[in-house]
Amino acid sequence: MDIQDLDLRFGSAGRNDQLRPLTPSESEAEEERAKIPMKVLPGGRAVSPGPSPLQIVGGEVLDGPEHAHSGGPTLCGIPKDDIFVMRHLFYPEGRFSCPVCAALARADRN
Ligand SMILES: [Zn+2]
Repeated sequence: MDIQDLDLRFGSAGRNDQLRPLTPSESEAEEERAKIPMKVLPGGRAVSPGPSPLQIVGGEVLDGPEHAHSGGPTLCGIPKDDIFVMRHLFYPEGRFSCPVCAALARADRN
């Protein structure tokens, strides 16, 4: 399935209390990763050679799952005041996605 085939209708959010600064060793590892050349796929699209083990948001690390929301609380019930909004849509199959939000987002799609 291609991402264009998905009907993405929820935004992404993280819990405020799960955002933290990178540790010095994590910063160093990310700097090393940034030096690895991009891989060019047939067709010319350049992609990162390997995904980061960290979920980096605006220079910090989200130490928890990514949740789906549509302006209010997350689908799994975290109050609006306890979350921050990320600048992309929620992707249920994403490797950092909250399993409850993913299941509810998939159910909404069907
Ligand atoms: Zn959730």
